[in-house]
Amino acid sequence: MTANRGRTIFERIIDREIPAQIVFEDDDFIAIRDIAPKAPIHLLVIPKRHTERVDEITDAAEMGRLWLTAVKVAREQAADYRLVVNCGEGGGQVVFHTHIHILAGWEKGPESD
Ligand code: IMP
Repeated sequence: MTANRGRTIFERIIDREIPAQIVFEDDDFIAIRDIAPKAPIHLLVIPKRHTERVDEITDAAEMGRLWLTAVKVAREQAADYRLVVNCGEGGGQVVFHTHIHILAGWEKGPESD
């Protein structure tokens, strides 16, 4: 059980209370540009249904749609890319609304910058 940390910045972006650079949206997901990019292309794919962390998604179809959406958005941005999920404070998670990072756009791979 994780602590209730209140409404996150991503829920406020989904509800259009806070602006974001939206690159993709459908009924279930939104993809935005990360505000502090760690790669030339850094996007976040965010499910609209609130879960705090990815391992709270237990339905295989829902998890599949999340990953398929991340791959689709990534492929629209770059031929090659890295997908990252930080899960829990110890895993580096800062925003407790599930999201997948898309990192891409390096010249010769992630360690080249
Ligand atoms: P986490 O460490 O996986 O939780 O990553 C959270 C990410 O959200 C970080 O890369 C932040 O730079 C990013 N972030 C935080 N606030 C905003 C925002 O308002 N817009 C876009 N990205 C944000």
